[in-house]
Amino acid sequence: MSNVKYPKKLSLATTPTPLTPLKRLQSKYGGPLIWLKRDDLTGNLLSGNKVRKLEFILAKALADGVTAIITCGGVQSNHCRATAFAAAQLGLRCHLLLRGDQPQGAYSGNVFLDQLAGASLSFHSPLAFRQVDELFANQKALLESEGHNVLCIPVGGSDGMGVWGYINAVDELNNQVRHQKINVKSVVCASGSGGTQAGLVLGAKLHKSPFTIFGINICDDAAWFENKITQDIRDWAKGFANGNCTQGVFGDSPDSIVSLSDIQMIDGYVGEGYAKASDALMNTISEVARLEGVVFDPVYSGKAFNGLLNEIAKERFNNETDLIFIHTGGLFGLFPYAERF
Ligand SMILES: *Cc1c(COP(=O)(O)O)cnc(C)c1O
Repeated sequence: MSNVKYPKKLSLATTPTPLTPLKRLQSKYGGPLIWLKRDDLTGNLLSGNKVRKLEFILAKALADGVTAIITCGGVQSNHCRATAFAAAQLGLRCHLLLRGDQPQGAYSGNVFLDQLAGASLSFHSPLAFRQVDELFANQKALLESEGHNVLCIPVGGSDGMGVWGYINAVDELNNQVRHQKINVKSVVCASGSGGTQAGLVLGAKLHKSPFTIFGINICDDAAWFENKITQDIRDWAKGFANGNCTQGVFGDSPDSIVSLSDIQMIDGYVGEGYAKASDALMNTISEVARLEGVVFDPVYSGKAFNGLLNEIAKERFNNETDLIFIHTGGLFGLFPYAERF
């Protein structure tokens, strides 16, 4: 048990999610036994890591009397899909700002589901998306003119409130590690907008976990994530002081909870860019599906898992018997890649 005082949280996710070992994969490839934290099973339409953030973000939104939400992401954003369904479940109006071209013909994957959930969608070029604050502001003004009280949620739900989702998840993980009696030194996740890793890093400190958090970036580079995760932690710290702790949340002083050295990135697996997938990555996805009955997506979880297998092959984790990989979901994002298999 931990004595961290959490803010209000909705119950949207199916938790705790299982922690399951990939034994056949280990027999074939050696290295430490990988345990999957099955956050792909947090729900069906709400599945993946974003719902854990939304439980906190939307609890505050409801308390604040919000009636409409706007968020943004790629056309196949899992975060947008989870937000659209959470909004539908809560009776909120939802608009999604999507980066990329409007798909030709019938929509598939996440964007199909966004539409089904009744979210309104707008598509914007990567160039227009550089002024995403302006896109948010315009849409907000429009919804306000219809009488709505609007909340804008940043990309990936990664902000000071969303970070609570994975602080909470570490509580869950600690209990599972203790219960399974496994010796885990490393927990690895895919990092896209940084909020999951920020929460895990904070959670590991606050709940005194025995493990280190590693993020495998699926876009940008290590420096970008160090900066982004630092920002998310600072944003979180502003709301944390109340009733929890008042000093040294982030910094290099000995009494600070986290420092820059706690943000550990494994860089080198972005490939040709965000959502660009190599044949080797597709092979890993097929292999894991057949060997273990688990499906990863090429944009996030699969790209990071492929990176993890490469690191294991390079003997990075040779001194460890067990490690944990957070399966952050992404199943619906796989379908637009069907032709590649
Ligand atoms: C968004 C997402 C991530 C990355 O999480 P961040 O908190 O944005 O870093 C990883 N996996 C999947 C499937 C996602 O949708």
